[in-house]
Amino acid sequence: MILMKNIIREGHKTLETVAKEVKLPLSGADKKLLKEMLEFVINSQDDEMVEKYGLRPAVGIAAPQVNVSKRMFACHVTDFDGTLYSFALVNPVLTKKSTEIIYVPGGEGCLSVDRLTEGITPRYKRVTFEALSYDIASGELIPVELNLEGYVGIVFQHEFDHINGIMFTTKLFSSLPNAEPAFQMPEENDTI
Ligand code: ZN
Repeated sequence: MILMKNIIREGHKTLETVAKEVKLPLSGADKKLLKEMLEFVINSQDDEMVEKYGLRPAVGIAAPQVNVSKRMFACHVTDFDGTLYSFALVNPVLTKKSTEIIYVPGGEGCLSVDRLTEGITPRYKRVTFEALSYDIASGELIPVELNLEGYVGIVFQHEFDHINGIMFTTKLFSSLPNAEPAFQMPEENDTI
């Protein structure tokens, strides 16, 4: 299982490297990592597991954060209306984005950043990702088109940045005059 000690932190070269396309069919190692990444995020939202393993609560993790420079990430996040978005994605492509820009009012957090940061990060209000979704139960890859808005969209954009070697700390602004705050504030899980 992935633990905090397996997560690399800012300054590590892998976090600043554009990750490579995942070769298909998936290798056993890639399947294992996809499963472990999704399990890590789910476990990190479970108080008992957090205490037992010293996890930092999170809503997403990307393969480069465990020093695997491949285009994969996992998110497990609930929207304001209670819809759960739980995905382990392979080779995602950002196919559509809105002109409107939003941000998390308190600023974003990241498993690879231990310090407090100041500033807000611009994100598209609406995004569409096309990707292969790894179904852990069946081991199948399923093509998906995800239309995401607001906070959930921000979470996926943060992870997508990771596979492009972009840290949110390179996109911190004291104000964004033409942007609006994300409709939904993250509750306790503010680490993306
Ligand atoms: Zn991050």
